[in-house]
Amino acid sequence: MEENISLKELHTFGLNVQTAQYTLVETEAQVQKLLPLPAAHLILGGGSNMLFTKDFEGLVVHNKIRGIELVEEDEKTVLIRVGGGEVWHLLVVWCIEQGYAGLENLSLIPGSVGAAPIQNIGAYGVELKDVFDRLEAINLSTGKVETLNFEACAFGYRDSIFKRKAKGKYLITRVFLRLSKEATFNISYGAIQQVLEASQTPLSIRSISNAVIKIRTQKLPDPKKIGNSGSFFKNPIVENTVVALLQKKYPSMPVYPIGNDKSKLAAGWLIDQLGWKGYRKGDAGVHEQQALVLVNYGNAKGSEIWALAQEIQASVQEKFGILLEPEVNILA
Ligand code: NAP
Repeated sequence: MEENISLKELHTFGLNVQTAQYTLVETEAQVQKLLPLPAAHLILGGGSNMLFTKDFEGLVVHNKIRGIELVEEDEKTVLIRVGGGEVWHLLVVWCIEQGYAGLENLSLIPGSVGAAPIQNIGAYGVELKDVFDRLEAINLSTGKVETLNFEACAFGYRDSIFKRKAKGKYLITRVFLRLSKEATFNISYGAIQQVLEASQTPLSIRSISNAVIKIRTQKLPDPKKIGNSGSFFKNPIVENTVVALLQKKYPSMPVYPIGNDKSKLAAGWLIDQLGWKGYRKGDAGVHEQQALVLVNYGNAKGSEIWALAQEIQASVQEKFGILLEPEVNILA
């Protein structure tokens, strides 16, 4: 256990905040030994989805449980069991090297494997749930290792049981993923197709991964250079009756139907219409290439970034009547 530790290097916003107590865990037994955790605690993975608005007056438990094991294999698929503390992108790279398909569209997403199911990470038409089999997690009240299957995780759009009923209840230790030995490619998002065509490379899990990496590095700030937490807001899912009214007023607004009654709108587009892209106040700003990403240019305070996020929220609500929900966890 360490005291008064800086969190600057431990989360991707790179804010100058510290935690009262810090410990890292590499095994299930080490987690169990820490129980019961103090009321103020935080399970930290890659720190890529959180905004500290002030110092953390509690215990940070850093999940560093490692390992990738092949659990099952048949003609067409493999089942792997991965430690929650593994770095997500390194897992993607490993899978591509083995020829296991399924994660290539999720290349370069910052964060850890254990955090991936919490918000059902997704990009370019693929979500974690598409390859998810089950997970193991320590119940922080009982200390027991529980297995939660697909249904138990109640995945939704950037959502799961861990953001709702089971919030704060578990530490995710291992994630089981079912990957394919015969690739079926998902290039439904136009940007991937365009990059592949321009590079004239044949379709493969590696070429898709390279295309995603290329797009992401062009459009998204590298957290090592400019602090950020990826998309700050979720794309809103809105009733089609509301969408129809908005489309009359804003015919160029992108709309992605979800089922019969609802559609997904692009939060980045809504924010962009209000001229926020490239905005900067002190060291808090909105990324120049992507209006959905808030950035710390160096010495911003978390409270300044949160104030900016709330200003953006209010302006989108005023113009479009839509309340954007943060995707990032706000630690107030
Ligand atoms: P984009 O291409 O500018 O598109 C804007 C939004 O429209 C995206 O968020 C995406 O929703 C939606 N969209 C675009 N094409 C679509 C299609 N063919 N079908 C359904 N929905 C479509 O998006 P971007 O901001 O550059 O991001 C590209 C991908 O990377 C997206 O999937 C995005 O979610 C993902 N990403 C995630 C994060 C994060 O922190 N969570 C950060 C950066 C990028 P979806 O978001 O639902 O895909």
